[in-house]
Amino acid sequence: MERLQKVIANAGVTSRRKAEELIATGRVSVNGQIVRELGTKVDQRAKIEVDGVPIDKKQKTMTFLFYKPRGVISAVSDDKHRKVITDYFADQDARLYPIGRLDYDTSGLILVTNDGQLANLMMHPKFKVDKTYLAKVEGIPNQAALTKLRQGVSIHSRKTASAKAWIENKNQAKNTALVGLTIHEGMNHQVKLMMRDVGYPVMKLKRDRVAFLDLTGLQPGEARRLSGEEVDRLY
Ligand code: URA
Repeated sequence: MERLQKVIANAGVTSRRKAEELIATGRVSVNGQIVRELGTKVDQRAKIEVDGVPIDKKQKTMTFLFYKPRGVISAVSDDKHRKVITDYFADQDARLYPIGRLDYDTSGLILVTNDGQLANLMMHPKFKVDKTYLAKVEGIPNQAALTKLRQGVSIHSRKTASAKAWIENKNQAKNTALVGLTIHEGMNHQVKLMMRDVGYPVMKLKRDRVAFLDLTGLQPGEARRLSGEEVDRLY
């Protein structure tokens, strides 16, 4: 006998915590009976359904952390036949798509999933997911520019929310700097526009972190599947 939430999580339907939520909200039945009790033990032969679909038929959710190289489109297809993110996941038996977008010439961390609920949650402005970028810029931003970035600049006729901004390093000889920027909005070309607004155009852009996740251990073009615990932390 095993706990119901564990059986659902082990079947790959969703993470353990999410499985508990499915049970508590009455979406899980065992042998035709809705079960809301979290500790319920079930045996191997029990017929378990989520939203009326047997768990072994239910689409498995999977979420990958991908290190997008420059020169790849954040989409599932491209009418100009350029390389797209999902080309890297062609061997996965799931309809995966990126959560949000990075520009064609931006590299870095992007999540790729078939978990619609996670995607909605990560994209919703209400959840304020921190995203950290490293931008190589022309010129070396002064204090006034950093203050302005932190307090908000005007792009797309709106003021950006408060942000963290710092100089990671600078190259006096070349008159360039690497600027760190943590934002939680996701306006189109936001970092490039913010830097341009303060007078230091972006030459190269990389997203280094999303929430608590970073690119440790990955090279551009590589991905790793998130663990159930990591997915739980994102929810
Ligand atoms: N901001 C940008 O300007 N480009 C990106 O790809 C991401 C954030």
